[in-house]
Amino acid sequence: MYSHYMTTSRTAAVIGGGVAGPVTAMALRRAGIEATVFEAYAHGAEGVGSFLTVAVNGQRALRELDLLDLVRRHGFDCPRFEFVSGKGKPLGGFPAAPERTADGLTSRTLRRTDLYTALRDEALRRGVPIEYGKRLVTTERTSDGVTAVFADGSRFTADILVGADGLLSRTRELIDPAAPKPRYVPLLNTGGFTRAAVPGDPGTMVMYFGRDAFFCHMLAPDGVVWWFANVPQVRELSPAELAAITPDQWRRRLIETFAVDTTPARAVVEATEQIAQPWNTYDFPSVPTWHGDRMVLVGDAAHAASPTSGQGASLAIEDALVLAKSLRDAPDAATAFSAYERERRERVERVVAEAKKRSADKMPGPIGRVVRDLVLPLVFARRAKSGGDDWVLSHEIHWA
Ligand SMILES: Cc1cc2nc3c(=O)[nH]c(=O)nc-3n(C[C@H](O)[C@H](O)[C@H](O)COP(=O)(O)OP(=O)(O)OC[C@H]3O[C@@H](n4cnc5c(N)ncnc54)[C@H](O)[C@@H]3O)c2cc1C
Repeated sequence: MYSHYMTTSRTAAVIGGGVAGPVTAMALRRAGIEATVFEAYAHGAEGVGSFLTVAVNGQRALRELDLLDLVRRHGFDCPRFEFVSGKGKPLGGFPAAPERTADGLTSRTLRRTDLYTALRDEALRRGVPIEYGKRLVTTERTSDGVTAVFADGSRFTADILVGADGLLSRTRELIDPAAPKPRYVPLLNTGGFTRAAVPGDPGTMVMYFGRDAFFCHMLAPDGVVWWFANVPQVRELSPAELAAITPDQWRRRLIETFAVDTTPARAVVEATEQIAQPWNTYDFPSVPTWHGDRMVLVGDAAHAASPTSGQGASLAIEDALVLAKSLRDAPDAATAFSAYERERRERVERVVAEAKKRSADKMPGPIGRVVRDLVLPLVFARRAKSGGDDWVLSHEIHWA
């Protein structure tokens, strides 16, 4: 049961210093709530993964918080997607953003490190305290707030606690001990940066549905090729099994996997000095409970879409804005949390469901492959004509 209190929340503990955490803290400050961020790792999550794309809907949410210019200082625009079969046959393509949008924004790809660092530094500049080495282990309800208890024994009490602690969220378990675990999507991720000859204009994301694996490259304006690959992996590997794959073994497996395709994938992999250690893919079909007494989830903690969506960071940023607005406008936290969930749940679950379907195109069997290569040109042609993803990309949230 919620305890209703008729004063607006004034303080918040935000758990997690990834994308959702610092943005939520800055949005809450704008709503008059003093937020402190607590990150489990000693130096934040920068350096994790390679790069990601912030879609136009995420950028517009950033703009409402005066964060857009800061983020656009990094990376480069990716205005177009092109799709090619493993045999080198073009399957179609379409713009990364609805062409009719007046602000001219398009997808922006940047290194994860740059995004995390930029958000963290700006949060600090705006006066948001960020504490590192603070892993949330449990919470305790006080008469008028909630106390976060960290692994190092320290504690912090605030009016509300926001779980921005990602896919393996501890806050989610504390809100609902019966919460489901993330669902394994049978694909390994990897990627890298190199110099190699690739087709396509700078910024175009060229994606290849190879016979056995998926590959994407984009040429940055400075001539560096940024790439990622998704390799089917039926059985979920444990962290120890993933760590045990040596860089040489992984390189060999990728080269063998892409050797059957008539695409630049193999040459790009061979030219890459440092290939990212593989990591698992997960999503969350639905998290039944997003909030409990004075605690609420944002970002991947509430709704992870598989990376195929290219929407995880953007949805996390949208969450931050909607949650802060809801807290600004509602008479109490419980009402605000319900309003936030009402506004967000249907949208994010639709993105998760569509990404799940697209992930399946990356791992078909032999018959599925033939069907896929025949059907995808029609799918992409229809999407280019009808603006299939416009409902995700055109979404706007206004602070005012
Ligand atoms: C391979 C891959 C590619 C992707 N590509 C894209 C893309 O192109 N575009 C896109 O939009 N999204 C992409 N995503 C998704 C995107 O990275 C996530 O959706 C986004 O990072 C979610 O932000 P978050 O803040 O919710 O979680 P995270 O960024 O994971 O941050 C969570 C933070 O919480 C901390 N934490 C965890 N537990 C605790 C605890 N108990 N106490 C304190 N702190 C804790 C973690 O250390 C971490 O810093 C991709 C994801 C993957 C895996």
